[in-house]
Amino acid sequence: MFSKKLRLPHTLAFRLTLWYALIFTISSFGAYLVFNLLIASGLRERTDQQLLAEVGELSSHLALKGVDAVELDITHDAASVGLDRMFLRVLTPEGKELVSTDMASWPDMSVNRSALQRISTGTAHVFETLAMPQLRHKVRILYGIIGPGKIIQMGKSLEDDERFLEAFREKFFIIMATLMTFGALIGWFMARRALQDIEEVTQTAESISKGAIERRVPLKARGGEIERLASTFNKMLDRINGLINGMREMTDSIAHDLRSPITRIRGIAEMTLTTGESLDEYETMAANTIEECDHLLQMIETMLDISELEAGAGNLAMQQVDLTRVVGDACELFQPLAEDKNITVVAKVPTGSHVHGDIQRLQRMVANLLDNAIKYTPSDGTVTVSVDGDGSQTFVSVRDTGIGISGDELANIFDRFYRCDRSRSEAGVGLGLSLVMAIARSHGGDVAVSSFPGKGSTFTVSLPRKPLT
Ligand code: ADP
Repeated sequence: MFSKKLRLPHTLAFRLTLWYALIFTISSFGAYLVFNLLIASGLRERTDQQLLAEVGELSSHLALKGVDAVELDITHDAASVGLDRMFLRVLTPEGKELVSTDMASWPDMSVNRSALQRISTGTAHVFETLAMPQLRHKVRILYGIIGPGKIIQMGKSLEDDERFLEAFREKFFIIMATLMTFGALIGWFMARRALQDIEEVTQTAESISKGAIERRVPLKARGGEIERLASTFNKMLDRINGLINGMREMTDSIAHDLRSPITRIRGIAEMTLTTGESLDEYETMAANTIEECDHLLQMIETMLDISELEAGAGNLAMQQVDLTRVVGDACELFQPLAEDKNITVVAKVPTGSHVHGDIQRLQRMVANLLDNAIKYTPSDGTVTVSVDGDGSQTFVSVRDTGIGISGDELANIFDRFYRCDRSRSEAGVGLGLSLVMAIARSHGGDVAVSSFPGKGSTFTVSLPRKPLT
């Protein structure tokens, strides 16, 4: 499904290019409208100013030289501009024509009565723009008073303005079309380049989904967003790989650790069945089987307990716990074991050390640490248990003068089923410290360890004084 090649219209590069081209077209068109409007109104303003200047000139000529001079003036002006481009008519307020230029190019050019009326009632001048079917271009017309009882009607073809706007439009669109073609090509190229790196991530994901779990996205030194995505993707793959390996190791360990007691149970039963003759032997077999089953059950329960605590589903029965008592009881409990190995257990516990926690879990935590300390300390050693703290935390430390743990192994001792090479001769399954860590963390605390091979180890549990919110 993933390996299917994407059709061009579905590619992100194509869609990005299309969107950019669309946005560019819309904004260019908007810019064109604005420029067109500005230029058109500028041209209109200029034409109006020319017409008004003409009215001013004619009215002073009329005042100085009379209507005949004006007739000459308008004929001359229209001829110099072009008779098909400009006409002038002097009218009475009623619209009767007094003098006019040659109107052959302006057929049916009427007089706007309402404009004349507005002029008669005091308006200085009236402009209008006419589009007439018989004329190819629009006409700008000005009505203005040039003397008593004399109104000039002046019309100027907007041909030049329209041609100018047409030329502007043509050039604008040619430039925009060229820019858009180049822009789209460059945009397409850039988008393809940027998305090529995503393609690499996709291809890696595809090959991983087909089983090449060790593959990683090649990183480039550019350091952009896609590099970050690729590096996060690689880290995620490393983490998943690590988890898969961890789970694989754990299932191997579980299988291995379950096999030994089950083999033993089977051996006892088989031997009793083949050689057993008396009831005593059968009773011994039953007792041994129960013991091995208890051992198995305990291991399974510990595993479940760790999983529940890690998942936050450990159902902690939280209460004020007197740590002084918990540690004291544990030391007392392990005293016979320590005495067997001639190990001295020293408890340095101030009275009244309280924490908020689940008493049974805390007892198990201290017991596991003490058990390890005694187990991994040769005869004549010392195990010191101390409790102290600061304003926010309480520390429980278990120090021994035992075999210690090498630097390489320290990082793994809290993993489930992990056992250091030197301690394999001792009884144990490698779950004790995982449980200690799970209990400490479920109480909002942590476990730290420092150890020197041949000299001893110190495990320190830190627990918050205040209840977790
Ligand atoms: P185990 O059942 O093997 O004791 P743990 O999870 O309690 O399992 O401990 C994991 C490993 O850490 C042990 O197998 C041992 O190698 C090492 N370890 C734990 N505590 C100590 C200690 N006090 N001194 C030396 N090694 C220790």
